[in-house]
Amino acid sequence: MTTFKIAVFDGDGIGPEIMAPTVELLRKICALSDAFDLEFTSLPAGAGHYRDHGVALPPASIAAARTCDAILLSAMGLPDVRYPDGTECVPQIELRMELDLYAGVRPVFVQPGQDVPLKSERVSEIDFVLVRESIEGLFAPSGASEQIGDTEARETMVITRDVSEKLFDFAFKLAQRRKETGRGIGRVTCVDKANVFPALAFFRKIFNERAANFPDIETQTAYVDAMALWMVQRPWEFDVLVTENMFGDILSDLGAGIMGSLGLAPSADIGDDHAVFQPCHGTAPDIAGKGLANPMAMILSAAMMLEWLAQSSPITELQDFGETLRRAVSDVLVAQEHLTADLGGTANTDQVADAVLAAFRARLS
Ligand code: ATP
Repeated sequence: MTTFKIAVFDGDGIGPEIMAPTVELLRKICALSDAFDLEFTSLPAGAGHYRDHGVALPPASIAAARTCDAILLSAMGLPDVRYPDGTECVPQIELRMELDLYAGVRPVFVQPGQDVPLKSERVSEIDFVLVRESIEGLFAPSGASEQIGDTEARETMVITRDVSEKLFDFAFKLAQRRKETGRGIGRVTCVDKANVFPALAFFRKIFNERAANFPDIETQTAYVDAMALWMVQRPWEFDVLVTENMFGDILSDLGAGIMGSLGLAPSADIGDDHAVFQPCHGTAPDIAGKGLANPMAMILSAAMMLEWLAQSSPITELQDFGETLRRAVSDVLVAQEHLTADLGGTANTDQVADAVLAAFRARLS
């Protein structure tokens, strides 16, 4: 029996409400396996922690997270808790920087039973992954933000060869895995604005250089403005998209919009040594404390975690359980019996998580 250590950040707002049933669900799933177990360690961080203790991401929490095999993180941030410069308290971004999590993985897929805003017979074919560079670009800590009196403000976009090469290799390997499992056609599209910004022309140049090492994968390039249009007009045509941090930030919300609800959009931030799995949505202060939060994005992020752990482990059950958990969420969507209000249902958070567990068990038996 192999035990994986999982760091857990409960977060703020609806964060703890969706994390608790997800951890409970994972515990019950592990009990069905003779091959692996998960050991959870809860770590403090978040906007609430900043308000109460003056620090959003305690160094001790980072140190403890570093010793774990994977990190589960719920949403963080509260609208009324700000740093002295007025910016929002978002420790998850600090964690990305601290742990060098350069690849933000944002899957966009439509499962049977999912009610989506796009009306086309082909919506059920939507299944692509947006890979968002996550530690530099327009968010780079080394890129100076400058305020010149009250007349001008500047930001700097930073693209480095080192991070870009790792990012593109990650995207190409992801496309290879998706091709092998029949989920993708084996194509990576570099999304940039290489026609205007030299930094992004450099980004595209490195993309083309790295592509030469992956002859089995098709490549494409696209400008980000066109991509926003195509993601609405023909999202079923894409496989893996790779892009700069800020563009990825915006396009991943568009991706969540395509899926019909933020409550269904999972994500992962992956580096060479660590990985964080968290829902795409924020802390939803408008529904916090009411039991209305949809836990599916958190559960799907946990499924991604199992599949990621499987990549460096001989335990095949990790991959099987990850896939089965994803399909169990789909079963609950199709059944339409236990859905939260964002999906038109009346179920509470725990009832949805219980329904996913029941669907998981049904699939295993
Ligand atoms: P952030 O800037 O941190 O991403 P935000 O304010 O842009 O946060 P969210 O907190 O994600 O966005 O909330 C946007 C809307 O989506 C809100 O109306 C919220 O209630 C809803 N929402 C977000 N997550 C969920 C969820 N898990 N279940 C149900 N509704 C959700």
